Amino acid sequence: MSESKNPFEIAQAQFEQGADLLGLPEDVRALLRWPLREFHFRIPVKMDDSTTRVFTGFRVQHNDARGPNKGGIRFHPNETIDTVRALAMWMTWKCAVADIPLGGSKGGVIINPATLSVSEKERLCRGWVDQMWKNVGPRMDVPAPDVGTTPQMMAWMMDEYSKLTGNYAPGAFTGKPVDMGGSLGRTEATGYGVIFTVREAMKHLGIDPKSSVAAIQGFGNVAQYAAIGFKEILGGKVACVSCYDLNDRKPYTYSHPDGVDPKFLQSITDQYGTIDAAKAKAAGYLQEHEMAWIDKEADVLIPAALENMLTAETAPRIHKRMQIIAEGANGPTTLEGDTIIKERGLFVIPDFLCNAGGVTTSYFESVQNDMNFYWHRDEVLERLDHKMTKAFQDVLEMSIGRKVHMRDAAYLVAIDKVVRAMRLRGWV
Ligand code: NAD
Repeated sequence: MSESKNPFEIAQAQFEQGADLLGLPEDVRALLRWPLREFHFRIPVKMDDSTTRVFTGFRVQHNDARGPNKGGIRFHPNETIDTVRALAMWMTWKCAVADIPLGGSKGGVIINPATLSVSEKERLCRGWVDQMWKNVGPRMDVPAPDVGTTPQMMAWMMDEYSKLTGNYAPGAFTGKPVDMGGSLGRTEATGYGVIFTVREAMKHLGIDPKSSVAAIQGFGNVAQYAAIGFKEILGGKVACVSCYDLNDRKPYTYSHPDGVDPKFLQSITDQYGTIDAAKAKAAGYLQEHEMAWIDKEADVLIPAALENMLTAETAPRIHKRMQIIAEGANGPTTLEGDTIIKERGLFVIPDFLCNAGGVTTSYFESVQNDMNFYWHRDEVLERLDHKMTKAFQDVLEMSIGRKVHMRDAAYLVAIDKVVRAMRLRGWV
């Protein structure tokens, strides 16, 4: 049988494995195997040339037993309902493992945002809210940015929502600009969260961070701050980063003989995470082939781009020095890829634990919006470190106690919390 790259099939198979380990009965599985609610809708948008284009949008609310749904909105040309379903389910586990009182949802629009003008993007964002405003909100479902969406887009969406409801509602969307109810520290939160869990994994495995090397895939929001954090917080070296070049329509890996300087690369990267190839080469960077990031001699591999990157085909190419896989992206590993990684004995920090820093800080943002009182950056990052460290230690303890891999342990911790809330509410 060929390898499944359908993220929802992967998410469901991972859930069933966790449910088996927990011995969950069929009624509980039936409620968690599929989202509670999904919305499919059309968004008409007046384009700058006065024509109307109709876009397809989604919102999937997987489970809100532990609190209002929470999850990003992705603008991507290859968006599918199954990707949104998988991401919504992973959000449920992510909020549970991070121990924040929220459920899981996700949204999307099938569009390459780079093809729209600024005003077309604004009308698309407002159009998304026009379709969904009755089913989102601070006590129901709170969207945030994801791949292809930005803080500015969240500000437009929040504005549209406030106009439609007649109430100023900053807590209806998170990941907003700091000048408009956003939280300090949100931009770097996911990448730094990845690094806090890598730090804990290194302590556990006895690896010296200062002599460690990371290979990173991607150079968007998560990868940029994971790279900066790996250098500045851990004192390690970053061998390479990579990106999908929107001009060439091809992915490339960028490396430097002295290790990459993430802040310099960030200064020559656009808002979609594409590095300016000419400027990078002029500064002595090597532009290597698409998969060079996976072959690099390093201790920590951080896939931080998109789904299905570590597969039956690519996982065997992971360098023999590698010890830790820190899944910055959602769903970067297929089931077959995971089997190979387990057989090699690599230590995996699974996605919904590793990248929970974003949603945790989004939760902090809603808390600050509710209080109308804002914390300083160090306070946000300190609270984030505390939450990420506790979540990592809970999963590690489960992994050691039950003698299971970290991904299975994370599922055990997360599913158990959601099921306990469903039972307390009398759903099952
Ligand atoms: P982004 O759009 O800012 O960046 C994505 C990066 O991946 C870009 O640099 C892009 O060029 C690169 N990329 C795409 N395809 C590639 C390929 N085939 N090879 C190499 N590079 C490729 O997105 P992001 O916000 O950084 O999110 C990245 C991942 O992390 C996604 O899976 C997302 O769902 C997940 N995530 C993001 C957040 C967040 O706060 N931003 C939080 C949790 C999880």
